Amino acid sequence: MISEERLAALSYATMPKMVTNTLPGPASSAVLERAMKAQSPTRPSVRGRLVIESAMGAGFQDPDGNTFIDMSAGVAVSSVGRNHPKVVTAIREQCEKLMHSAGLVNDTTVRLAEKLNSTMPDGLRDQCFTWFGMSGSAAVETALKFAKAITGRSQIVAFEGAYHGVFHGSLALTTRENFRARFGPLMPGVMHLPYPYCYRCFAEMKQPDCGTLCGKYLKHKLTTPNTGADDVAAVIIESMQADGGYIDPPPEFMKMVRDVCTEKGILLIIDEIQAGGGRTGKMWAHEHFGIVPDMMVWAKAVGGDLPLSGLTIHERYREKLPLASQVITGAENALANVVALANLEILTDPQDDLIGRAAIVGEELKAMLREMAAKSRFMDDVRGRGLFIGIELVSDKETRTPLDLKRVGAILQKCEGQGVRIMSCGRYGSTIRLMPPLTATRAHLREGIRALASAVAAVEAESAA
Ligand code: PMP
Repeated sequence: MISEERLAALSYATMPKMVTNTLPGPASSAVLERAMKAQSPTRPSVRGRLVIESAMGAGFQDPDGNTFIDMSAGVAVSSVGRNHPKVVTAIREQCEKLMHSAGLVNDTTVRLAEKLNSTMPDGLRDQCFTWFGMSGSAAVETALKFAKAITGRSQIVAFEGAYHGVFHGSLALTTRENFRARFGPLMPGVMHLPYPYCYRCFAEMKQPDCGTLCGKYLKHKLTTPNTGADDVAAVIIESMQADGGYIDPPPEFMKMVRDVCTEKGILLIIDEIQAGGGRTGKMWAHEHFGIVPDMMVWAKAVGGDLPLSGLTIHERYREKLPLASQVITGAENALANVVALANLEILTDPQDDLIGRAAIVGEELKAMLREMAAKSRFMDDVRGRGLFIGIELVSDKETRTPLDLKRVGAILQKCEGQGVRIMSCGRYGSTIRLMPPLTATRAHLREGIRALASAVAAVEAESAA
């Protein structure tokens, strides 16, 4: 397994390191002000106050010279860390040769498809083919179209709390209200069923007494006449629900999803965009549940420093897809391909075993976080697998009342003030999600959660008991 020393060499020698007394510093403020005028108000960073100028491994620097530990890995993208030396070398070597390929076959695309197909779980591995895009939303959009073409059916089943993207089709699957508002009507024919968010069970039941009620309801909906689900092409589900609250579903639920799809000839599309790529301690998170999808969408960590997404589909559906019917001009970019090949090589290197390490380090972090939560008024459930960790923040542990957005925001800002970037998620915006690079050292990770605990304690102290 890769040593802490080798990992440390991939990141800034000293981080976090704050050189301004306030955030944003003067140089960052100037960039933020220009962004407000020149960029769209719909951009993701519009409420943020951090500016990124350069990056190395698990850290990044702002224009004022502050160095941050990135406990969010650029939203679960930089699994191998940013600007990994092997990635930089791959870019240097490829950029002189070829970048844009547009409709022509290039060996880097073929090699990447072959490599990805070989990383799939048993049952899909090397019995599949891959389509390439540039964003997760585009890959989900494509999965929906393909599911309709393959089955000749029209309806799609998704889950409450899901996040699958922001285009008209994928947004119809995403349930976050502030993303949907004012963009309707969205793609019709979508049904949302309860997801096993056991901490906040829709039926107020507890495992295992619940008998996996949400799985039973799904089966009822898809197998009983006159439920409205009479033309279902696909069920789409995140392997671990990400934006919806970093939720680790019970394996028996995931097996029930697979079984009912098989029974009814419905395609199972697993969205591995956020949890996939090794983060959870397995290459693809659904491998924890022993199920095999018919199609798998992936993005984020595979492309890492360059935008890349795709869809890997079981071989048995090849003949059902109309030739040359899903074309994206900028896809199959050779530069993105060699970066993805480098990322996959780094992630799957058996000697370094970054994925195995993620499982071990994740358990260590969860144990520390649970100790912190036991002493904290706000920190409650700590869950997840590997370096995909969610922490519920509540104002009252008895009633599990979600901590309000103002105090969650204050906690995240206090983390940033200590040079640690952390993000939240969840249906109430009250779940902390830890998704650091797999190359962060134990020291970086410990510093990250120390900053979190101290930020939570400070906001607790400011709040009357
Ligand atoms: N699916 C999941 C599970 C995601 O986490 C995301 C992005 N957060 C998407 C789809 C959409 O990906 P993108 O932002 O690249 O369109």
